[in-house]
Amino acid sequence: MRLLSALLLAGVCWLNCGFRPADTAVFHPGDTVPEAHLAHGQYLRFFTDSPLPDSLFARMQGNSYRKGCPVSRHSLRYLTCLHKDIHGKTIVGELVAHIRIADLLLAIFRELYENDYPIEKMRLTDHYQADDEASMRDNNTSCFNFRFIAGTRRVSKHGLGLAVDINPLYNPYFRHISKGSGINYATLAPATARPYTDRTQTFPYKIEKGDLCHRLFLRHGFVWGGTWSSCKDYQHFEWP
Ligand SMILES: [Zn+2]
Repeated sequence: MRLLSALLLAGVCWLNCGFRPADTAVFHPGDTVPEAHLAHGQYLRFFTDSPLPDSLFARMQGNSYRKGCPVSRHSLRYLTCLHKDIHGKTIVGELVAHIRIADLLLAIFRELYENDYPIEKMRLTDHYQADDEASMRDNNTSCFNFRFIAGTRRVSKHGLGLAVDINPLYNPYFRHISKGSGINYATLAPATARPYTDRTQTFPYKIEKGDLCHRLFLRHGFVWGGTWSSCKDYQHFEWP
């Protein structure tokens, strides 16, 4: 009887005072989260930072984590967060990043989410067998993926977990050369991004100097590849 009274009281309190039991529904990276699980600050529980789980580290072997990777497992963190696509759909995202920037990235992505900044996808590159071109063509936002800078033995900042590529299809990396009439690209990544190299055009997911994404990364000490002179890397923010 006493238990019944306590339950009834809790129910009345929930209805009258806004008290609600903790939401324990489970969502996975790539899942869409219905609005009912986000209200009253519940969205904050999706922003997490943890050591790499054993199952994930095993999955990364030979994919994003390959022989010669100079970063130890313990210097990398597994982050989850929320992002919204261009239609306002809330999706669970995930990243592996260096411990040095883990809390900065969570703060940045939380603010982007709270301000409806559109990010289409955010899955680990292992979801694409660490094929960076495939990840970029799919407009997937990512961070860690061990690799050397093309044509060198220098480890890319992505290979250290210290750089993030945001909405890469619409914010490509390119270096162009003049040859005959028109523009020829010595490098264009992803190769399908040619329509988005013309930065005078307006299109979804485009990063522009002074927009929220650009301002937040710079405020937290990152450098943007969109202002480099020898090439342009509009998707790329790196920790110097
Ligand atoms: Zn990059």
